[in-house]
Amino acid sequence: MSDLVSQLTSLAIAAGDPSADLTIVAEGNAAVFEPSTNRFLVKASGVVMGKATIEDWVYLDLAKCAQVLVDANKQGVSKKLDKAFDAILKESKTPNGVVKKASIETMVHVVAFDLMGATWSLHTHPTPVVALAASKDGAKHYKATVFPDEAVVCGPVPLFLPYADPGLSLGLGVYQGVLKYQKKHERSPGQIILGNHGLCTFGSASSEALSTTQIAVKAARVRLGALSAGGIKFVGKREAASIAYRPDEILRRKMLSQGK
Ligand SMILES: [Zn+2]
Repeated sequence: MSDLVSQLTSLAIAAGDPSADLTIVAEGNAAVFEPSTNRFLVKASGVVMGKATIEDWVYLDLAKCAQVLVDANKQGVSKKLDKAFDAILKESKTPNGVVKKASIETMVHVVAFDLMGATWSLHTHPTPVVALAASKDGAKHYKATVFPDEAVVCGPVPLFLPYADPGLSLGLGVYQGVLKYQKKHERSPGQIILGNHGLCTFGSASSEALSTTQIAVKAARVRLGALSAGGIKFVGKREAASIAYRPDEILRRKMLSQGK
C-alpha cells in the first residue's frame, strides 16, 4: 500500500478522534494530491473518519474534476453539470480497483489542489467553528485574526464563505471565493470557514493540514470566549500581516509544511 494512503488514513483517524471534536459519524473528509499522476485520493462517501482504513480512499482525476468547476464558473450550476459531477464521483476506484463513490464534498479539495497549490487538504466540522459559522454575525467574527499564531499558521485574513448546498454548489462557492481572495490578498487563504457548515485547511504535509485545523479550532474557541467576555478585539490587519511574514515565522511555517 502506498505511503500516501497510509498517511491519509492516519490523518483521518487523528481528525476523527472523538476527543478532537472535529468530526463525528461520517462528517468531514481528507484528500491528498499525487502530482506524478495528476490524480488525488479522497475519502469514499459515508466513511467515518476515526474508523478509516486503507480501503476507504478513492482516486479521482484532478483535471477532469477541475473542468467541471471551470464550466460551473462560466455557466452556473446546472442539472447537466450536477450529473457529470455525480458520474465522476460514482466511477471512482480505490487503489486496488474497487469502485466506491467519492465524497460529495470532493470539490473542496479540487480547489485546494487546482488553485492553491496544496497537496494535502482537510475538511472538518469542529463544533466551535460551526457555532461561529452558524451565528448571525459569522462573517464579522472572521473578518480578521484573534492572536498571533492564528495569523502565522492560518494566514493573516480568514476566508469566510456563505452557506452553499453540499455538492457542486459548495465547490463552486469555494472556487469563486478563493479566486476572489487570491486577487485581493495576493496569496491563498490558510483557513476557509464555510457558513453554517465547517472548516477547510491545507498544506504540503498532512501534519500541516492538521495543525492548521488545530490552531483554527483554538482561534474559534478564543472568538467564542471573547464574545462571551464582551466582544472580539481583533489583531490589527497590519500587525497580523507583519507577524505572518516575519522571517522566523516563515521558517516555522516551512518546518510545519515539512512535517516537523
Ligand atoms: Zn462538510
